[in-house]
Amino acid sequence: MVRATIDGEAHEFGEGLSILDAARSLGLDVPTLCHEERLRPNAVCRVCLVSLEGQPRPVPSCSTPLVEGMAITTTGPELEAARRGALRLLAASYPAGAVRRAPGKPLHRLFKRYGLERECRGSPDPSRLDAAHPYLHVDMSQCIECYRCVRICDELQGQFVWHVWFRGERTKVVAGDGGRLRDSDCVACGACVDTCPSGALEDHTVLAARWPSRWTRTTCPYCGVGCEMEVGTSRGKVVTVRPARGSAVGKGHLCSKGRYAWGWVASSERATRPMLREGADWRPVSWRKALAHVAARLAELKKRHGPDSLAVLGSARATNEDNYVAQKFARVVLGTHNVDCCARVCHAPSAAALSEMLGAGASTSSFDDLERARCILVCGANATENHPVVGARIKQAALRGAALIVVDPRRIELARYARLHLRPRPGTNIALLNAMASTILAEGLVAESFVRERVDGRPELEAFLGAWSPERAEGICGVPASQIREAARLYARARPAMSVHGLGMTEHSQGTEAVMCLVNLALLTGNLGVPGGGVNPLRGQNNVQGSAHMGCEPHHLTGYAAIENSRHRFEERWQAPLPASPGLDLMEMMDAARDGRLKALFAIGYDVLLTNPHAAATLAALRRLELVVVQDLFLTRTAREVATVFLPAGSAFEKDGTFMNAERRVQRVRAILPPPGKAKPDWQIVCELARAMGHSQGFAFTSAQQIWDEVRTVWPAGAGMSWARLEGAGLQWPCPSEGHPGTQLLHVGTFANGGRAALRRVDYRESPEQPDESFPMVLISGRSLYQFNAGTMTGRTPNNALRPRDLLDISPVDAGRIGLRDGEQAVVRSRHGETQLPVHLDDRVRSGEVFATFQTEEAFLNRVTGDGRDGRTNTPEYKLTAVRVEKLAGATSREP
Ligand code: SF4
Repeated sequence: MVRATIDGEAHEFGEGLSILDAARSLGLDVPTLCHEERLRPNAVCRVCLVSLEGQPRPVPSCSTPLVEGMAITTTGPELEAARRGALRLLAASYPAGAVRRAPGKPLHRLFKRYGLERECRGSPDPSRLDAAHPYLHVDMSQCIECYRCVRICDELQGQFVWHVWFRGERTKVVAGDGGRLRDSDCVACGACVDTCPSGALEDHTVLAARWPSRWTRTTCPYCGVGCEMEVGTSRGKVVTVRPARGSAVGKGHLCSKGRYAWGWVASSERATRPMLREGADWRPVSWRKALAHVAARLAELKKRHGPDSLAVLGSARATNEDNYVAQKFARVVLGTHNVDCCARVCHAPSAAALSEMLGAGASTSSFDDLERARCILVCGANATENHPVVGARIKQAALRGAALIVVDPRRIELARYARLHLRPRPGTNIALLNAMASTILAEGLVAESFVRERVDGRPELEAFLGAWSPERAEGICGVPASQIREAARLYARARPAMSVHGLGMTEHSQGTEAVMCLVNLALLTGNLGVPGGGVNPLRGQNNVQGSAHMGCEPHHLTGYAAIENSRHRFEERWQAPLPASPGLDLMEMMDAARDGRLKALFAIGYDVLLTNPHAAATLAALRRLELVVVQDLFLTRTAREVATVFLPAGSAFEKDGTFMNAERRVQRVRAILPPPGKAKPDWQIVCELARAMGHSQGFAFTSAQQIWDEVRTVWPAGAGMSWARLEGAGLQWPCPSEGHPGTQLLHVGTFANGGRAALRRVDYRESPEQPDESFPMVLISGRSLYQFNAGTMTGRTPNNALRPRDLLDISPVDAGRIGLRDGEQAVVRSRHGETQLPVHLDDRVRSGEVFATFQTEEAFLNRVTGDGRDGRTNTPEYKLTAVRVEKLAGATSREP
């Protein structure tokens, strides 16, 4: 406790505050300019001056710690004169027009408060203008050298784009090497724009439109990090997006996708009317007609071929409420467990491994544990591109001293910050992780008391791993034995140690088992149930955790409840019998379609054709179906090629609901605009279809909140998350009652399975998909910073200017051998198909490997990927395809 007097009144404060913090906690209006709550104090502007008893001169309140017994004065003629004087110096060279154009900017409000508007006599300097970036407008004639942009880029994003050049009168803030922002290392997160108090940095969209008249808080529709954001609208249109201050996940930060890639919402390509296929054409019809048609066709196919001839796909871009209703529709109305979602093609292995070994198929910890961990093991996750806000937090943790170990065949950005970068051959993670566990056991690095008290299977694992020396693993995965030992020691000794992993772990033929190996490491070292520890899948899409958790999985009901254990409970709640036969997952649905067992697919928000591997096989399977209903935002590739009915859906900007992020946090999604045309929220369409099929009872919902309230009745671990409680920063499950605060950390004291955890012996099996003479290289597929998944949303935004096309990253050595120059078109052939891509010479990729993104229809990379699947969950083996790369005959160079 610190006692101090402010403006003549005695108060008590907590420890560790600055004078500014203390004054603001009392509601006092101390002006600031260079200060920002997300940044360390800088004290260059002299606007936040206060007087201290016994001090001859005022001090900056932002950087002066509050200490016991201080007597502080925050206002008075002398202080006001000093503040006015500091601002007057800025006004003298500041462009007057800027104040008129944007009176709400913090600097402009200060000019007004101190009567200095008329003293702004500077002129715009065209030589300091840079409008080349697709999103950020730079006018450095409005720069007041507060360095907030420089500091936020360093301290929050860790990108170090903005620099201060020269000193004194010649001081200037520049991007990169002093040229255009667009040519710098800028990642378009917009943090500098958010913090700039003058408008020197501004969004083009804000300059082109009015300042928003309304702000709505919601959750980002892109990745599974789940950053909260505020969407600014004016006259019924989105004008800008800014990070939600104080948000639990993003901490006031967004990446380029959340911050800027929202243009698709108003795209003229949005589907706005229900349509029925007539030959090669689409015929717009009323909702009544479209739903009557789908209801009749589903009923007819069910009658002819049985309920298991029908299948439903839920959607990771849709809300929990949409997905809950979709799986209930499959089970209650259609009478089948044939329901799945895109978790199948990403993190189903993580959920399976974590559930089987620990009793909960989700992240064990929270993103806040990144700041608590002393070691972070990042496996197969290119976080700075695919989960950029988490990537930035990992970078900052490493800069503060956390030991970072990166496991990735490519030299991804995080490798620059890593103590160790291990580069296994694709498909050999198990050999590497087994050898790390073997080292921990052999070198006595086991957390003995933790293992004794909470873990079974140590003797068996020890005997098994005796055969997994780092030298043997080196022969398989290519990582030097010395590095494997070093990584094991670092991870085991620097407690707490946390692992995060991505699709480089799961999208392999042994994806589930690889995650089990990560759990083994955490169990051996006591890194479960402790702050800063844990095993954490970085979920890909915003609500992929939620869509699976709501029950869009053939073998699980809502809450990841195994069907056989929970059948009675759900039948009672839903007042309907559950199907007796087991359901098909997404990949099994394709198999069943191909051999004629599946007749109809209702795909909600999932472009099956573009996303599934081995596109030729997928297309052949889909073409055999008698009914394909696509419900989506756009006429997707699946819709165009094979759908017989199209139903237009509202996006996350156009409906209420909730998402569940990668750290088990349920957060609100709020309607910002009405859906375009006749489009409707997914849940509403599914409920109307259920009613058209005679199921009024159980589908009479009139709001997302009503659906969520029903979810809480069937999911005990979510029962405490009332709509009202979700209004704040959301809640992490388990949250079993309304008095429960939610759970940041799982497995504290006991595992979620109610007892001890057992170590797993996992043997390495080589994938059948191996290079040979005909296909000598290995293709790894993945995403990039500026595009998302199949590009459905980002591909309709100015992000295209930042990442216009898919590229084939190839080492300069291999490119030279093949005779390919940067930008030239290459043919990529595999045993499964071929495509063409421009090459990008990239020494982050090793010789013998190539990397390509899959985000445009033009490249359609899944023409090349194959049929390999994870042995336990059927997740496709996207990360390993043997290919041959050739120069395209007659191709001309073009810039990548
Ligand atoms: Fe959205 Fe993910 Fe970026 Fe956050 S990190 S802004 S959730 S895409």
